[in-house]
Amino acid sequence: MIRYSCDLCKRDLDPQHDLRYVVKMEVFAAMDTAADGEDDNNDHLQEIQDILECLDDADDDQIGEEVCQQLRFDLCPECRNKFAKNPLGRENFATKVGGFSKN
Ligand SMILES: [Zn+2]
Repeated sequence: MIRYSCDLCKRDLDPQHDLRYVVKMEVFAAMDTAADGEDDNNDHLQEIQDILECLDDADDDQIGEEVCQQLRFDLCPECRNKFAKNPLGRENFATKVGGFSKN
């Protein structure tokens, strides 16, 4: 049986008792071609297509992570909550959100 552990706090996740959350991230180079005019729409679509193909081939180590990068994490419920409040790990952000009171 496959054993999962939380990628943040490293604790083992018991499939019988623990909810496991999967976080998938895609980081890829933005293609800002809109300023070139509508005539370039086809090129823009082609670039998007290239990125999609790149993501499909993400198993290939030769593809530069600067172009596109796929990340996948397993999180326990507690770490999932932390992540949801502060996905980018910004300093002081989580505490501010945590202090937010719902009337
Ligand atoms: Zn955790």
